[in-house]
Amino acid sequence: MAEISDDGLLLRRIPFSETSLICHILTAGHGRITVMARGARRPKSIFRATLAPLYRLHITWRPGRSGMGTLTDISRGEQLVDESRMLPALELIAVSSTLFQDGDPHGYHELHEALSLLADRHADEGQCAALWLMLERAGWLGDLSHCWLCGDMIAADVPMQWQHAHLVCEHCGEGMEISAGLRKGMAGVIRQSNIHMAARDRESWRMMIGLVLREHGVKLPDSFRQHG
Ligand SMILES: [Zn+2]
Repeated sequence: MAEISDDGLLLRRIPFSETSLICHILTAGHGRITVMARGARRPKSIFRATLAPLYRLHITWRPGRSGMGTLTDISRGEQLVDESRMLPALELIAVSSTLFQDGDPHGYHELHEALSLLADRHADEGQCAALWLMLERAGWLGDLSHCWLCGDMIAADVPMQWQHAHLVCEHCGEGMEISAGLRKGMAGVIRQSNIHMAARDRESWRMMIGLVLREHGVKLPDSFRQHG
């Protein structure tokens, strides 16, 4: 089969045999793929040095009949997130790996957008904003100005309720109160970089994200464990 080239983001690399790696990659135009990087565990392999998360990669592979392709070339593009954001970025990548499964045409642009947002925010609320955005793009969340059950538009100065991992109006449910300020802060951090949230609001946001992930059976990232 003819070779294909595309931009990609590395999700996971799993050792295979003594010398190779199996790589899960989100590609810009070909969805999520699995490729074998032969010899990638050898010390001098170009694959070994280049196959890293947090970078935009340009890859070439030969599709395989059984579904797994063979990586034939790779080069590294720009670094999307610097080392200070490494842990939250890796957690983001782990969640995206659950959100976008093999054969899903989506994922690359969603993860790229989320990593770019993380790179540009204060680390803590940046991770919340990036996860929230990715979950919203994946269709797991509604928007912040409507009740997710009845669809009514909710004015910016009205508190809402958080019930069963849904943001709802006061008629549709009763749970943890989501103040107008928290909702405004969340929207603000997602939209622009220079916003800082109060620690209490950050905690609430983390808890909400943890509940959404748990509702969908996603393994919680380590930094969310104590909040769930
Ligand atoms: Zn409602």
